[in-house]
Amino acid sequence: MNDGAAYAVSEFNSKGRSLAEATPPGRSEFQRDRDRIIHSGAFRRLEYKTQVFVNHEGDLFRTRLTHSIEVAQIARSIARQLGLNEDLCEAISLAHDLGHTPFGHAGQDALNACMKNHGGFEHNLQSLRVVDLLEERYAEFDGLNLCFETREGILKHCSNDNAAKLGELGQRFLQNQRPSLEAQVANLADEIAYNNHDVDDGLRSGLITLEQFDEMPLVADHLHEVRHSYPNLPERRVVHETVRRMINTLVTDLIRQSETNIKLQQPDTLEEVHRAPTLIAYSAEVSKQQKILKKFLRTNLYQHYRVRRMSAKAQRIINDLFAIFMSDQYLLPPQFQQQAAIDHARAVSDYIAGMTDRYAIREHQRLFSVSEE
Ligand code: MG
Repeated sequence: MNDGAAYAVSEFNSKGRSLAEATPPGRSEFQRDRDRIIHSGAFRRLEYKTQVFVNHEGDLFRTRLTHSIEVAQIARSIARQLGLNEDLCEAISLAHDLGHTPFGHAGQDALNACMKNHGGFEHNLQSLRVVDLLEERYAEFDGLNLCFETREGILKHCSNDNAAKLGELGQRFLQNQRPSLEAQVANLADEIAYNNHDVDDGLRSGLITLEQFDEMPLVADHLHEVRHSYPNLPERRVVHETVRRMINTLVTDLIRQSETNIKLQQPDTLEEVHRAPTLIAYSAEVSKQQKILKKFLRTNLYQHYRVRRMSAKAQRIINDLFAIFMSDQYLLPPQFQQQAAIDHARAVSDYIAGMTDRYAIREHQRLFSVSEE
């Protein structure tokens, strides 16, 4: 157990689990949450879900699994230095993408469009649904029965309509309060991880080039310094060395600025954290630089015609699968048919959201290809 600061989440100020369970011997409640997440089926499926590049495009690209592990690593480093609950940060980080559809954001947008008249689809809410309901691993309850603070951290965004249906967990959205500092850390660790690994993966794919970063604030200084210090370093190592330094700059800046914010605000309890403004943040300068990098990646990588082609194909697969399962619920695997009798669209959405990229492609072939059995 972490003996963190007064503003950190601990087992003493935790709101606990929906269903009370005996305290685990030898590990903290939040370590137990992390362990439950790692042993879930949804966690294993992250290995075959797209981050930006579809899984079969190459073995070295990040998947949602390796992304989540990188997020956890960054979040834990930050948490340790700020005296926050590392185990909770790790649990939130490992679970934050469990509800993602196959094919990354293209998949999520397509499923959301399909679900437009059936309550919509939000991947954050779906992650919560996975840990609260969809995992079937325990004799006594559905889901993983995680601690309130882990669930709160997983639910990063939520519309007010959905928040109103979530009881205590939805209150902070309705009352415009902040989540725990651990949740705030995991949120920014996610951003640090994907911005940096997307630079790395983008360069590896050849869709973007190092020259494009020559004048970009967050990248250029490190890039020039690396080139100057190691003039004969092979290109790949220049990339790794640069990205490594970028992560370090972001993490260091985030810790420094957050320490200042915490000192100014001096929250003594979790309640005060919830009422305070967001305290985990970059300095104004680094925040600006980070936004420039994000914008660059959006324009040059995520909207690259080759990524868009893959996204278009992904959207068609999701649309086709949704349409055919909505046309006949008896095409669904038996375990989804019971749920379909109660809420047909949500059962289809849960089935599709749980698919890996390759499973969705195969399922599409099984249902639409005449040459398949
Ligand atoms: Mg993420």
